[in-house]
Amino acid sequence: MKIVLGFVFCLLLISCQKVEKKDVVESIETVVEETPFAIVVHGGAGTIKKEYMTPEREKAYKEKMQESIQTGYSILEKGGTSLDAIQAAINILEDSPLFNAGKGSVFNSEGKQEMDASIMDGKTLNAGAIAGVHHIKNPINAARLVMDSIGHVMLSGDRAEDFVKPFGIVLENEDYFYDENRYNSLLKAQEEEKGILPKQSAMINLETFIDEHKKGTVGAVALDKFGNLAAGTSTGGMTNKKFGRIGDVPIIGAGTYANNASCGISCTGWGEFFIRTVAANQVSSLMLYKGLDIESAMNQVIHQAIDSLGGDGGMIGIDKKGKIAWEFNSAGMYRGYKTSASEPLIIEFYEKNKVVE
Ligand code: ASP
Repeated sequence: MKIVLGFVFCLLLISCQKVEKKDVVESIETVVEETPFAIVVHGGAGTIKKEYMTPEREKAYKEKMQESIQTGYSILEKGGTSLDAIQAAINILEDSPLFNAGKGSVFNSEGKQEMDASIMDGKTLNAGAIAGVHHIKNPINAARLVMDSIGHVMLSGDRAEDFVKPFGIVLENEDYFYDENRYNSLLKAQEEEKGILPKQSAMINLETFIDEHKKGTVGAVALDKFGNLAAGTSTGGMTNKKFGRIGDVPIIGAGTYANNASCGISCTGWGEFFIRTVAANQVSSLMLYKGLDIESAMNQVIHQAIDSLGGDGGMIGIDKKGKIAWEFNSAGMYRGYKTSASEPLIIEFYEKNKVVE
């Protein structure tokens, strides 16, 4: 009898342990599933003016943005890092001539394409950037290599290309990057400069220009399942910029910033103003030191700091809890996002000031 009772007692004990173990496993799964993750992507503040946007153009832009967001989101969904997600999302836009980054970058004043990019890891505050390069197919990949490999933050020019090549970073000849519309934009900008055409805007590549003048720096910010933020930006700069000019994009704190304690930010617009206001870092600092939320901080930077100097452009971001925000004072900004909490994927070109919790 004692043996039978002992046996029954043991069985009860084992089954209780099983239930407890199962409960623990389930609760871990619940925690993992509930950790929010999100990606937000922009395709530049120099959108085609609404009145010139055709259904075909809109479709082409939306499809590419969608592909980019979905690619980054899938990486996050599978448990990948925010750095990998933004890099993959940006690669899609760099490879498309619709955007002013990688293939289809704008031309500088001597008819060359000179590209800049940067990336930042919000967990470690490590950062990498590449500036003034002519042949790197995906400048964001070179920026990531700089961040991951040498303990420097920025490499520039031909010697940067020499450095990254042995690491498998793909270089292309200049024909690969050429885009006729972009070249025509340069010719038009130069005619305006000489007074042959009426001058339309101090900033050649912002909203006063339509299709052939458009630009579209690209950028992405993501929060992964581990709570790590990352931000990256890639660009050809501004049409007719002086050769050798470096914009805000590769300058950490100006065009790109990420800090797990506050937010990740990627900017687009007239770069000189984003440098002078240290725009991306200013959003983070307003959150950290003044306790502002992401949308108030962005609002202050775009509508006070940048506006008051006469600059224009916009920014996208995510805070540490996964809240997505954007702000711009240009006519529009191609942008979209996908979060683990909201379906479906959202893409917008013109309406302003969206915040997603
Ligand atoms: N910010 C970029 C630059 O000034 C241009 C852009 O965003 O379109 O180089």
